[in-house]
Amino acid sequence: MRSKVVVLDVADRRSAVTSPAEAALRATLSDALVPIALLGLDLEPLLFSQSWFDQAITSPVASSQKAAPLILSPDFADAARACLQSGAVETCRVEIAAGVKAHARWFSFELSPWPRDGSAYSRLIVVGREVTEAVLAARETEAARRQQAEQNARFDAALSNMPHGLCMFDAEKRLILCNTAYRRLYDLPEALCAPGTTLDAILDHRRRVGNGAKSLAAFYAATVEAGLSGGAATRDVELIDGRTIRITHNPIATGGYVATHEDVTEALRATAQIEFLAFRDPLTSLPNRAGFQRAYDDAVAAAEQTGEMFGLIMLDVDHFKDINDTLGHDAGDALLKALAGQLKRAFRATDTVARLGGDEFAIILRGLKEERDLTRPIEVLQGLLRSPIEHAGQSFTICASIGATIHEDPDADPTHLLKNADVALYQAKYDGRNRSVVFKPSMRTEVEKRVELLREVRLGISQGEFDLHYQPVVDLSTRTVAGFEALMRWNHPEQGILPPGAFMAAFEDNDLSLQLGEVAFERAMAQMRAWLDDGVAFGRVAINVSSSQFRTGRLASEIAEKLARWRVPADRLTIEVTENVYMGWGSDVVSDTVRQLHDTGVLIALDDFGTGYASLANLRQFPVDRLKIDKSFVQNREDDAIVRAVINLGSSMGMKVVAEGVEHPEQLAALAQYGCDQVQGYHFAKPMPAGEVAGFIDGFTTQG
Ligand code: C2E
Ligand code: CA
Ligand code: CA
Repeated sequence: MRSKVVVLDVADRRSAVTSPAEAALRATLSDALVPIALLGLDLEPLLFSQSWFDQAITSPVASSQKAAPLILSPDFADAARACLQSGAVETCRVEIAAGVKAHARWFSFELSPWPRDGSAYSRLIVVGREVTEAVLAARETEAARRQQAEQNARFDAALSNMPHGLCMFDAEKRLILCNTAYRRLYDLPEALCAPGTTLDAILDHRRRVGNGAKSLAAFYAATVEAGLSGGAATRDVELIDGRTIRITHNPIATGGYVATHEDVTEALRATAQIEFLAFRDPLTSLPNRAGFQRAYDDAVAAAEQTGEMFGLIMLDVDHFKDINDTLGHDAGDALLKALAGQLKRAFRATDTVARLGGDEFAIILRGLKEERDLTRPIEVLQGLLRSPIEHAGQSFTICASIGATIHEDPDADPTHLLKNADVALYQAKYDGRNRSVVFKPSMRTEVEKRVELLREVRLGISQGEFDLHYQPVVDLSTRTVAGFEALMRWNHPEQGILPPGAFMAAFEDNDLSLQLGEVAFERAMAQMRAWLDDGVAFGRVAINVSSSQFRTGRLASEIAEKLARWRVPADRLTIEVTENVYMGWGSDVVSDTVRQLHDTGVLIALDDFGTGYASLANLRQFPVDRLKIDKSFVQNREDDAIVRAVINLGSSMGMKVVAEGVEHPEQLAALAQYGCDQVQGYHFAKPMPAGEVAGFIDGFTTQG
């Protein structure tokens, strides 16, 4: 469409010019297809092209009515002035507010003065061109740029404020960027943080200032190489300065990698602390039961995977409870700590020595080849245990019972191993403690039987099924009854009268032996009271005392109490103690008790002499009144020399010697010849119920 030239009436009137040049100009402008305005020197509009209105730069109505100067914006006015002054073409950009058109638009105006023939300017030609799109595009890019800048600023802030070090290296291991934390973590000078710095330069610097990785090769293998070869990798790298840095490498698409560096020294220490609390025993610092379980599970898993053999040892300190009771908890703690030390020395660092609780320890031995690998360290341990432990000026030795077993069959139920070790431990205790036993399948049934027996004994005690029989002790020089030994019998409801051999396990059990001891004393005291009342000349009654009774530390006072309560003179009582009572730890408790008893007039007899390890040196420490030669020597003619030696030894130390197990007249004759003081045995009488004692004494006296 051809643009029409609109001539404004008013303007036309005011600026009526009739020069041919202007007429030609107007004609040219009227042909223009672009928005054009012709202005006078006061910027009053003289002519607009149709396109000017089509594009709604100004509205024709407003223009025609006012014919006021066309000032589209302050910039426009400035440009017009400058243009008329200098004659140069000026441009300016004007925003046309939304109005006729729904959106604001931008126009670029080119202002040129006219005429250009050297005469004074009388007109200003304004040519418009819509640049909305360009402006908007520019704005958009500007907005995008600003957004990017903001994003970058935020990213920078995040980077420099992040607690972890971050660095990015290209495929040639040249630094792309790193953050403040990274710089601080390794004490890097600013210069080394410039892009392009090589990783090696940074590592060199770090080694110089003393925070390099302990093993550079390991560091590379674990992290950098992994990051570069496309695999993400997280590793804890130890630094020379003692810190541990957790480094995570991630490959980036453009080659190279980004890595975060986190100082985890404290975190690891805290974890270790928690670990320690959860899995360690605070007293000994050994793994506790939970720690043991973990190690055990590991061993089982390894056995399943590789078929490796491993061993399990259970250790229980003998009579630990009594040590605590009599020597105090400090002594108990000291002993446990000392034992923990000895255990660590006896086993390899790769073995797990754990404290399961109280006086129970367990050891897991991995990678065993043969049973010797299990028994050898146990022997070492037993050697170590022999050396006494000093505590608060006292020295004592630990005895421990040890049960051991080997896990040979990877398919076997792993919990069996724990049970087997327990069974072996039980067997070790049963065999007299202070020894080690390696599990054999036959033990399991024995242990089961024993457990059943103990249950029955417990019941029997509560039912009053235990009583004493009495066996006479005859004085050889006078051929009179010197006294009786009280021997425990069980009136079993189904099996009849059972000797102690049938319930020996009960004497081995701490709790039950104390209960049986109580029964023996009460029965014997009551019996002596009755005999005293009836005028039966029973002499002395000897009561067997087990080591558990000694270890309570209360034995002397309890006996004194019973003697007083039953009004039985102390010189009517003998107590028989086996050698093992004197041995082992805590002999202070034993010697104090023995001395107190002895001082009140109770006789002390050392039972089963010759079968244990009692040495003369040991014997001298205690006030022993009687030595009882074990029947195994008396009944074996080959042991005559021993019997004679014991008799000589006894009399030289001022003790009377009693021979047990005399069954035959020849034995009696020999003993009499050797100078034995007293005898006891089936030759005179088997142990008898209390009711038969008075009759026996009467008969024996008349006979003698
Ligand atoms: P012990 O103290 O050595 O008692 C002597 C054992 O020898 C008794 O066995 C007795 O019956 C047996 N004996 C006596 N003379 C002869 C003989 O001529 N030939 C043979 N073959 N044996 C003879 P018993 O009564 O079966 O007692 C066994 C063990 O049980 C006792 O050995 C003692 O260690 C223990 N015991 C018995 N009663 C008690 C008790 O009340 N308390 C404690 N702690 N132990 C007891
Ligand atoms: Ca005895
Ligand atoms: Ca005996």
